[in-house]
Amino acid sequence: MSLATQEEKDKFLQEASRHLDIDKWGDFLLRWGKALETYSTPVSILEGTGYDNEFKVNFSGKDWGFVRLIPGSGWNMRRALMAKQPPFFPAKNIEEYDAKLVLNDEVQGKCFMCENIAQGIDAKDNPSIDNVVFELGKYFITPGRYPRDPGHCLWVPVDHDDNSKRVVPQEGNKLYIPEEGKTRGALITPQELEAIVKFCQENHFIAARNHVLDGMSVPAHDHWHLHIIDLYSYDLAPHVLDQANSWTLTKGVYIPKNTPFDGLVITQDASGFSGMACNVINNLEKDNQVFTLLIYKDRIHISPRKNIHDHRRIQIGAEMQIHSLDDPNPGEAINRIKQYVPMQNEFNWQQYLDYSD
Ligand SMILES: [Zn+2]
Repeated sequence: MSLATQEEKDKFLQEASRHLDIDKWGDFLLRWGKALETYSTPVSILEGTGYDNEFKVNFSGKDWGFVRLIPGSGWNMRRALMAKQPPFFPAKNIEEYDAKLVLNDEVQGKCFMCENIAQGIDAKDNPSIDNVVFELGKYFITPGRYPRDPGHCLWVPVDHDDNSKRVVPQEGNKLYIPEEGKTRGALITPQELEAIVKFCQENHFIAARNHVLDGMSVPAHDHWHLHIIDLYSYDLAPHVLDQANSWTLTKGVYIPKNTPFDGLVITQDASGFSGMACNVINNLEKDNQVFTLLIYKDRIHISPRKNIHDHRRIQIGAEMQIHSLDDPNPGEAINRIKQYVPMQNEFNWQQYLDYSD
């Protein structure tokens, strides 16, 4: 299936209507599908795949609700598509791009995120390769190459990470201890956080960020996964919005009780929301903690992992904190969660919270 003819577009929208209101999302999805095809990924990768939002998992003697991915026929295409991903050839020399890119670096090799950015910039001269669905100055939003639901995108900064402030994981180096003054993940600025929260609120997305030691597959180029907030079966509201039963630490900052896991939620009611949230996030990073992030409506969820030293194997990713299991083998995923995710009251937040704006 491709989107070259009206018949194909209709078929794609019919498939997508299992997930979304096509009257509201159809135009966007066609733009998104066209952009996806520039990666040689057909929109049929989504065929049959969906979510079960009534999945229960027992933690500490109680059943908790999860949203579980159910792979369809399209899911099986992923491995073959990954294996035959066509090479990207930038149209210009690297110094001609208005972005700090790593394309064919002697030391760093190439970066898929930078290739996405270069392709997006090249599309100004060659619209047939236009992979950008939103362009926001220092950020591009492109489809994920192997999406798991319609509209699944990546929020990608146009500049490759400033590695002078970080160590970059080497394959096989599981301990991955930072040098003095460096961190393991990119530091997030209040400006970026504000930009992504604003984008999500205005355009009806949620954003999830994996950690470089938990599921971030291109760890040297910070990025977030975006999913449309309206997906029918991917209803996270019961898991992330119910704060009636929570421990409030200070105005707009609380620890949710509607989950078996420890986590911190900072809402826009908090004093100096983005500054406070970045302070906590960056304090965690500087203390070598591993954590994932979720932006949902007016709040950011921070979900820690246990600080044990074989983190490269976690592969849970940010979705866990929103009770989403997107591993085709949920039993295996649940075992990893039980091993690596602190349960309520296990994580000490207080030392990361000191902040005055
Ligand atoms: Zn890059």
